[in-house]
Amino acid sequence: MSQITPIPAFEDNYIWALCQPGHSHCMVVDPGDAEPVLQFLAQQQKQLHSILVTHHHADHTGGIAKLRQLFPDVRVIGPAAGQQRIPQLTEQVKQGDAVSLTEFNLTFDVIALPGHTLDHIAFYSAPVLFCGDTLFSAGCGRLFEGSAAQMWHSLQKLLALPDNTQIFCTHEYTVANLQFALHVDSDNAALSEYSQHCRDLRLKNQPTLPVTLANEKKINPFLRSNNKLLQKKWQKDSALALFTMLRAAKDQFKA
Ligand SMILES: [Zn+2]
Repeated sequence: MSQITPIPAFEDNYIWALCQPGHSHCMVVDPGDAEPVLQFLAQQQKQLHSILVTHHHADHTGGIAKLRQLFPDVRVIGPAAGQQRIPQLTEQVKQGDAVSLTEFNLTFDVIALPGHTLDHIAFYSAPVLFCGDTLFSAGCGRLFEGSAAQMWHSLQKLLALPDNTQIFCTHEYTVANLQFALHVDSDNAALSEYSQHCRDLRLKNQPTLPVTLANEKKINPFLRSNNKLLQKKWQKDSALALFTMLRAAKDQFKA
């Protein structure tokens, strides 16, 4: 079985590292910075075998050039739609492609998720989902390039995955996201309980990630836009209308 470890980077990014005990190779997702990855590899005595990239933003790609210099054979797999903006890719993939990592006995399905950016993709190998900046715990990515309708459609693809899906997103935004979630979904008992749990984890400096999709269906207001009671509370007559309102409100929200 593979082990997945968060390598903290910048203020609140996690570069996820996937390693197999007893083997020297390691894969990382969205290495925005090479240094923490190099430290991790040295500590664990691993070699970098491959890199998965979810989208072109610098805090997800900034470390790739240096890692390629140091590991010239590394596979760098990312979105074909982002090819112009991620020149370091060695393999371009799109919706429906399968990425085979035989050294890890894993195959990842590629899911296109336009919204945060137009090139955004996720990598899914049940139950593991690397979803970058699209779905966060208790939140979702900002709309830098896509429309609310595109993002909502992308989130529907993730909602269709099994409940036991483990969401490995790229930022430790959970506690701040939960403040907004409590503000817009104040009658949700599961949400208050989960909020306390996450605050406790952060006080102990532990990550709140990964989380299951089942958990997010209960507490993430963006995924709960299809909830009729929540729609009624905010006087919206469709999931997309509520999602659009929530996304705009979150951009303005100050805890
Ligand atoms: Zn981003």
